[in-house]
Amino acid sequence: MEQLLEELLAASRPYTKEGRLADYIPELSKADPNALGIYVVSSDGKHSWAGSYNQPFTIQSIVKPILLLLALMDNGIDAVRARVGVEATGKPFDAINTSEQALDSEHLNPMVNMGAIVMCTLIRGETYQERFARLLDLTRKLADNPDITVDEAVYRSEKSHGSKNRALAYLLKTYGFLQDDVEEVLDCYFRACSIRVDCRDLAHIAAVLANRGRAPGSDERIFPARFAQYVNAILLTCGMYDGSGEFAIRVGLPAKSGVGGGIMAAVPTRMGIGIFSPALDRKGNSVAGIHLLEQLSQRLFLSIF
Ligand code: GLN
Repeated sequence: MEQLLEELLAASRPYTKEGRLADYIPELSKADPNALGIYVVSSDGKHSWAGSYNQPFTIQSIVKPILLLLALMDNGIDAVRARVGVEATGKPFDAINTSEQALDSEHLNPMVNMGAIVMCTLIRGETYQERFARLLDLTRKLADNPDITVDEAVYRSEKSHGSKNRALAYLLKTYGFLQDDVEEVLDCYFRACSIRVDCRDLAHIAAVLANRGRAPGSDERIFPARFAQYVNAILLTCGMYDGSGEFAIRVGLPAKSGVGGGIMAAVPTRMGIGIFSPALDRKGNSVAGIHLLEQLSQRLFLSIF
C-alpha cells in the first residue's frame, strides 16, 4: 500500500501547480502550495501514508459533517431534517440558498455554509463556547487524537474577514432560522472551521464514517449506523459543493473538501482516506487532492458505483 501511495503521489504532484491557495481568508494564503500528503486507515485498523501526511492545516468545511453528526446525536434525524434539507444545492459553498420570496429549509444543506451555520444552533450547550467545546471533543474522539486544537491565527483571520458569512447568518435570522445572537453563532462556526488537523486525523474520522459509526480496529461505537448512512449520503451528493456530480463520476465516494486544502473520503466498510494539498480549483476543492483520490479509486476499485 505504501508503495502505491508513493507512486500515485508522485503522479499527482504536478497538479499542485494548477490550483491556487484560498486568499479570502488571508491566513490561508500562507500555506505551502506544493504540499501534498495522504493517509489511509483501513477498517481493521491498518495505517498507511505518504508525503506531507503530518503537515497541520485547518479543517474548514470538513467540519460540516462533524457538526451534522453532533446535531443528529443531540436531536435525532427528524428534528435536524425539519430544519435543514438534504438536497444538493448545485451552488458554491457560500451561496445564498434562497429565492426572492422566502427561505425554505429545503434550500439549505448541511454541507454548505448556510446549513452549517444552522447546525451550530442545533447542537446542545448553555453557551456557544460550550457548544464549540462539545464539537471539539467529538472531533478529537472521531480522530482518536486528544491533542487537536484551534489554529488561533486562522480563527482571527476568519472572524475579521467574515462579511459573507455574516450576511448569510443575518439572512437566516431574518427568516427565523436562527434566534440567537449572530456573532455568537458565527464565533462557534469560525472556531469550528479553524480546528487544526492533519491527514491522519481526517483518515481516522472518515474511517469511522466508513465503519458506520464504529472506531476502526475496535468495537467502540461512537454513533448509530443510521447517522453514518445519513451523513455519507449527503457527502456523496453535496460534499464537494457544485463539483459533487463530477467528483461522483471521477472518484465515486462520499467525501468532503475544505478550503484549507483537506479532503476526507469514506470508503464504506473498507477505509477512511485523508488528503492535504492546499492549491484549490475555482470551486474551492483541492486540485491535486482530487487527482490523487481519482487514481487511488481506480487502482483499488473504490468507487461505490
Ligand atoms: N471557513 C470557510 C468559510 O466559511 C469554510 C469554507 C470551505 O471550506 N469551503 O468560508
